[in-house]
Amino acid sequence: MSNQKQEQPSMQVFEQLESEVRSYCRSFTTVFHKAQNARLWDTNGKEYIDFFAGAGALNYGHNNSGIKQKLIDYLLEDGVTHSLDMATQAKETFLSRFQNLILKPRGLDYKIMFPGPTGTNSVESAMKIARKVTGRTEIISFTNAFHGMSLGSLSATGNQFKRKGAGVYLPYATFMPYDGYFGQSVNTAAYMEKLLDDPGSGVEIPAAVILETVQGEGGLNAASDEWLREIERICRERDIMLIVDDVQMGCGRTGTFFSFEDAGINPDIVCLSKSIGGFGLPMALTLIKPEYDIWNPGEHNGTFRGNNLGFVAASEALDYWVDSDFEPQIARKANMIRRSLEQMLLVHPGVDAEIRGKGLIQGIAFAEPELASELCTEAFKRGIIMETSGPRDEVAKLMPPLTIEQELLERGLRVVREAMNEMMEQKQKSAPELQLQT
Ligand SMILES: *Cc1c(COP(=O)(O)O)cnc(C)c1O
Repeated sequence: MSNQKQEQPSMQVFEQLESEVRSYCRSFTTVFHKAQNARLWDTNGKEYIDFFAGAGALNYGHNNSGIKQKLIDYLLEDGVTHSLDMATQAKETFLSRFQNLILKPRGLDYKIMFPGPTGTNSVESAMKIARKVTGRTEIISFTNAFHGMSLGSLSATGNQFKRKGAGVYLPYATFMPYDGYFGQSVNTAAYMEKLLDDPGSGVEIPAAVILETVQGEGGLNAASDEWLREIERICRERDIMLIVDDVQMGCGRTGTFFSFEDAGINPDIVCLSKSIGGFGLPMALTLIKPEYDIWNPGEHNGTFRGNNLGFVAASEALDYWVDSDFEPQIARKANMIRRSLEQMLLVHPGVDAEIRGKGLIQGIAFAEPELASELCTEAFKRGIIMETSGPRDEVAKLMPPLTIEQELLERGLRVVREAMNEMMEQKQKSAPELQLQT
């Protein structure tokens, strides 16, 4: 790494002026300047392939040209950019298009709420409305869940390190084991059902159950469709509201617009953010079944709910979902990733690891957690942006923009395989007694 340092832009300004809280820039130690779809360039002109996609906020790529043009046009005609929750033409267009292109064709009936423009805002509002509707306080969440960093969302987040950052007790959340937590032989939905019905379990009937269909930050654990349907049934039978946090897995990440479409469930509340803004612009939605939309005006508020550039970009991005070839394209790319990861493990049978995830969020979970970040570091040296996931950062995760060119995806996957080979070679050199076969 040290011999490559000189050719990389200096991080000095960030180290000197920016808070210690910064994180991604510590893994990706360069200064980025330009970006186009799935490629980024730093200030030295070095090219990177983006297998991170803004943690899922850039499903339609960097500087998507169609969306960019709409934004430029809107700015040039002095379109309103900030509007609290006043009615604007940009919002009207978005609401109609979301209704007609996304909800209606899927037979979904939701009122659309604009919370503050981040995922955690959507989760906070979802929990509030569930409590208001049911009059209960508890929320059931799952092991390794990630729902955001503000206190309410953090209560329902599993990660110990992140929870500690709160500095206060994080109440009102009960954690249940996610699908597969004890391995495939234990049905964790049945476990949860028993606890809910047992007057001796100490578990109260909650206002809501909140879940991710694939745990993006929590290690790419993917719930099975049957498990999701079981959880839905358990909720229905006890008047518990079901919240799907689709902040990261929504907008096509798993292959369909909503990540729960394959399972055929019908959540009471859906949280969307990250890629809903189309262009990496801040925006969030909370979708609420009409009968539960019992907010009083202004009861949940926020200055930046009317980010009209977000609405303009979001409206345009929905066009992808009119194209009947978009989902098959995602599926083809997902298969390419799966095959590449399988090949990686096949070539290194001595590595104890498994493939996780779904659609365009897949990765390798290593039994030896350090290998995941070492792989990411090795890949970054070769110009790939990819991150780790999981409570021990044990998963090396690949999540390119959905719009990545097939050829670039192939090239990036080849580089990741090379990075893996290099990492294993070095391991063998430094510790031959490990007997890792390559
Ligand atoms: C990123 C994320 C959030 C939080 O979104 P922010 O915009 O960072 O507040 C919540 N839930 C899930 C599943 C996420 O991936």
